Amino acid sequence: MPVTAQITRFAPSPTGALHLGNARTALFSWLAARASGGRFVLRVEDTDAGRSQDALLERQLDELRWLGITWDEGPGVGGPHGPYRQSERSAVYAEALTKLEANAHTYPCFCSPEELQLSRKTQLAAGRPPRYARTCAGLSQAEVQRRIDSGKAPAIRFRVPDHRTVEFVDRVHGPQRFQSDDIGDFVIRRADGSVSFFLGNAVDDSAMGITLVLRGDDHLANTPRQLLLLEALGMPLPEYGHLPLVLAPSGTPLSKREGAASLTDLRAQGFLPGAICNYLVRLGHACGHDGWLAMDQLASHFDLGRTSHSAARFDDAQLRHWQREAVTHSTAAQIEQWLGAHLEALPVGKERSEFVAVVKGNVLFPAEVDELVAVVANDSVSVSAEAAAQITEAGPEFFASAGRLHGASAGDFKAWTRAIAEATGRKGAKLFMPLRSALTGATHGPELAPLVGLMGTARVLCRLERAQALAGK
Ligand code: GLU
Repeated sequence: MPVTAQITRFAPSPTGALHLGNARTALFSWLAARASGGRFVLRVEDTDAGRSQDALLERQLDELRWLGITWDEGPGVGGPHGPYRQSERSAVYAEALTKLEANAHTYPCFCSPEELQLSRKTQLAAGRPPRYARTCAGLSQAEVQRRIDSGKAPAIRFRVPDHRTVEFVDRVHGPQRFQSDDIGDFVIRRADGSVSFFLGNAVDDSAMGITLVLRGDDHLANTPRQLLLLEALGMPLPEYGHLPLVLAPSGTPLSKREGAASLTDLRAQGFLPGAICNYLVRLGHACGHDGWLAMDQLASHFDLGRTSHSAARFDDAQLRHWQREAVTHSTAAQIEQWLGAHLEALPVGKERSEFVAVVKGNVLFPAEVDELVAVVANDSVSVSAEAAAQITEAGPEFFASAGRLHGASAGDFKAWTRAIAEATGRKGAKLFMPLRSALTGATHGPELAPLVGLMGTARVLCRLERAQALAGK
């Protein structure tokens, strides 16, 4: 069956940091577009002037680009449906409001927050689900004018049609049915003149030609309202798919302690973008491929139909697994860049590249390389308790022989360790564990031969002497 090219979008509000949940929504939207040969739009929902900040927006956009999620239309790119910031689209909303008003789909509402609160309480006390009581729905033109003249600014409500069944097929959850009588007339323009989420979001999706809206489950109840609005405006309806939430491992909402780290935090910790994307494409989505996928391979393994209907749980072990894969699949140049300032003690060039090649398999996060840099670049290294035990067990004569034989092997590690084996009668772990412990201060780490090469003779001899002294105590 030919796939229909989908126009999808991500519509962040620049009021906070992006978390894994938002990043997954962005990634799935991007993948749905890429997998169908469609387009991906980025729209900024910054109508909440009090909470939206340019610095937060810049950071969100930077983090999306860092993840490799690039947009075909949106900020910095342009496109035929701009502007792409809602704060610059008031003319579009004004036109929609005029149209709705002209067709009697709206009415001004003067109810104060206190009155609305009281009405809610009364309905709840009577065991009814609270919805707007249509207090202002029947005000005469003259009454409306009188209130405006007395200085009251009204909000504008959408008149929800009575006795309607709103049906749509959610692309994740399947068929949905809502009764319009359960939906209260909702505010589409606030008393301060700003448009509500319902209006701005629905009108923009339609006006921007979005064919598939993917967003969190928390928006599912908004969809029937938005469909009614678009219908009243005579605008094209997108399809909607609501992605189940991402929960903490314990099943509770994500918290700072459990999985709610922002992308900013994850990036600062040294997570690689490919690790995050490989993890997210499998979070609540049966991607059908167990192995590493490069960014340009993700789309061919994405199928919205294989998205789970229930909440996904964050799993730190899985994220770390993909981090290991991401490191393995990075080029030497990428790893050098990733380790950045942690490599400062090593001269740029051959020595640094060799070191990166040797330690690549042993670091999951940049900070972990510090000890290994110390092994090849510092005069002394700290010795772990396990390493000290190995040194003691081998005894001082072992290290004395190793030191004596080093010169004769002229930097040939194999020849050197063969000579030590002959001289001391030790082989296998009995030989390599104490040697590694003396030279690196640890009982495990990257392959020893190239590490020894990078250390240089003076350091090797100095550490063997120190081990000899330690073993002789
Ligand atoms: N700005 C909204 C949010 O961040 C977008 C919701 C949507 O995707 O429709 O929740």
